[in-house]
Parts: sequence; C-alpha cells; structure tokens
Amino acid sequence: MQIILCFIGTINQYSETFHDLTLQLPKRCHHCGCTKIYKWGKYHRFLLDENQEHFIPIQRIRCSKCLKTSSFLPDFCLSKIQYSTNFVMTLLKWILIYKKLYHTYLKTQIYFLKRRFLDQTNTFIFFLRQYSKKEFSIIPERKSIEIFNALYSLHKEKKLLSDFFSTTTKHFMAQ
Ligand SMILES: [Zn+2]
Repeated sequence: MQIILCFIGTINQYSETFHDLTLQLPKRCHHCGCTKIYKWGKYHRFLLDENQEHFIPIQRIRCSKCLKTSSFLPDFCLSKIQYSTNFVMTLLKWILIYKKLYHTYLKTQIYFLKRRFLDQTNTFIFFLRQYSKKEFSIIPERKSIEIFNALYSLHKEKKLLSDFFSTTTKHFMAQ
C-alpha cells in the first residue's frame, strides 16, 4: 500500500530534506487495525522528470503486529509509472489537447499514457462527479479534453493524487 505524501517543493528539495520530512503516520494499520506503526527504512526509485533523471528515497513504514509494510509516495510520483506527475500531465496535455506528440522520441510512452488515460475514462468521470458533488456533464466529442482539463486544474492545485485516491481508492493512472 502506498500513502500519498503531499510535498510542496521541487524533487531535489525532497531528496535533500528527506531525513527531516514530517510524516503523518497512519493512526491504524490498513490491514489489521493495530495502532503501532513505525518507520521501517527506505528504498530508492527512479523518476524521470522533464529535464532530469532522479533517484529518490521513499520512506517505508511497518505495522508492529501484522508486519505489513506501506510507503509514502510523494505526490510528484505516480504509482508504477517512471515519469513524474508533472511530466505525465504535460505529455497528456500535448497529446490530448494539442493533438501533438511532445517529442517523437517519446512516442511509444506517450501512446501508452494516452491509452491508459482513455481506458480510465469511466473512473475519471466517476471521480469528477463524486468530487464536485454535482453532475459532471460532458459533450461526447470533447470528453477527453474536458476530463483532462478538470483533472489538470486539480493537479495544479496539488490536490489531484490525494483526492483521487481518497475518492476512488485507486492511484491516479495506475491500473
Ligand atoms: Zn497491521
């Protein structure tokens, strides 16, 4: 299980201040309900941003009873996608809104992201309807554009990943 960590700052700032991060440990274990949860080391993962490759630490935590681990995924990362959230949104913006490839050398990855996005159309509509507590009406021909724009504004407000997860219990763009 991954807990989304809202981080204000750059990816480099995250890595530099990793040891001083203030983490809100869950009050109860997601699996067994035990209240004794503690930090349990870290691991590293690759992250490709628009201009830079990062290798960032991820904090792990563990339940003292069932011993299951979870980790804190900073919100500039997506679960199981190697590109940063910002970069994924940029690539999607280009392909869905401008109908252009951001860069031809990323063609395969861009089509992969586009397909993943379109496959999740119903989940996105569900999320946006629940989230805005009103009918999210869509003009069929502009469906992906409208969905993307709504999600993009939440991304700009740094709300997308955490609110998407709390509403759907799914990670954004994960399968
Ligand atoms: Zn547990």
